[in-house]
Amino acid sequence: MENATLPCRDLFDIPQGVLYLDGNSLGPLPKHAPARAAEAITREWGGELIRAWNTAGWMELPLKVANRIAPLIGAAEGSVATGDTLSIKVYQALAAALRMRPDRRVIVSDSGNFPTDLYMAQGLIDTLGQGHVLKTPNPDDVESAIGPDVAAVMLTQVDYSTGRRHDMARVTEAAHAAGAVMIWDLAHSAGAIEVDIAASGAEFAVGCTYKFLNGGPGAPAFIYVRPDIAEQVQPALAGWLGHEAPFAFDLDYRPAMQTERMRVGTPPIVQLSLLDAALDVWDGVSMAEVEAASARLAEVFIREVESRCPTLKLKSPRDPAKRGSQVSFAFPDGYAAMQALIERGVIGDFRAPDTMRFGITPLYLDDADMTAAAKVIAEVINTDAWKAARYQVRSRVT
Ligand SMILES: *Cc1c(COP(=O)(O)O)cnc(C)c1O
Repeated sequence: MENATLPCRDLFDIPQGVLYLDGNSLGPLPKHAPARAAEAITREWGGELIRAWNTAGWMELPLKVANRIAPLIGAAEGSVATGDTLSIKVYQALAAALRMRPDRRVIVSDSGNFPTDLYMAQGLIDTLGQGHVLKTPNPDDVESAIGPDVAAVMLTQVDYSTGRRHDMARVTEAAHAAGAVMIWDLAHSAGAIEVDIAASGAEFAVGCTYKFLNGGPGAPAFIYVRPDIAEQVQPALAGWLGHEAPFAFDLDYRPAMQTERMRVGTPPIVQLSLLDAALDVWDGVSMAEVEAASARLAEVFIREVESRCPTLKLKSPRDPAKRGSQVSFAFPDGYAAMQALIERGVIGDFRAPDTMRFGITPLYLDDADMTAAAKVIAEVINTDAWKAARYQVRSRVT
């Protein structure tokens, strides 16, 4: 059953016979994106050369794309900037947050956060050398860890491994009640669930665009800064393209207006062209509807897998309101089992130590796909097909 008002599988180039349950890691190719990138390469770069920065709108492209991401996360026009990688954007948001609370020394995250977010925080702490500490309580204990010494609360809304979802409004309120700055990582939220970052009141949000937004491998990240504080934010990575007037070539840094100051260097034009094309898919799409469709599909998937394959233990919350747009199952030999699934055209991924992860993306998956995937999963697990030697060899990317 296709949802009539949602974009459909026809918009994406997904190989025949593939059930793609990994759009939470790398979204599939929108069919019209290659032509847009080819134009940027051949006509704009090839034909216009350096002139293209002006004639092909390259200088405006980062903000144009940012303004297309903004409504998908409930942000106002001008409050989002694009560029760099998510790791860099995490660093920038946290560095700015710590400068806003110079008399506090604690950063609260959680033990379910994606490691790079924690690594970036630790690296920043070491660089500052001011005695900041990073606390990583269990996700359920975050609120009790937020006290008067906390400078910033930095959380990923949807856990990359389990799909567990934090209550954005509630945690932000707790952070603000304690006087802390709130940073949300929306890597597994943008394009997956309805987000109202403006209503949450959070100061910063960051995210990537190659997961549910389908921008392609290495697509630029985004950063949101709450409009009323944007002009006070002091960028730690004060690059020339975050300068008020890059082509004045002043020796002193003056931050650009609003969130544009969070840009650093030369934007990746070909990647931005792909992302710009990928965002066409979202024109007029209601995120509430996407979230509802995803919850319904996930319910079918959980039911079908559990009934056919009791060996797999659900690792994601059962309550859709507490889950993002993915379903994870624990299985000790999950890596080998996932390789066997991939060989059979059911593509998910594996996260150490035991998590088989399946992204649910209603833009190109329907109820029948959920049942079909569950049948293949049951075959692989129930017949021990995953035990074949070729499935045991670990690749670099799992
Ligand atoms: C995917 C993901 C990242 C990846 O960061 P990159 O710099 O884009 O490689 C970071 N944080 C979270 C929470 C993620 O889910």
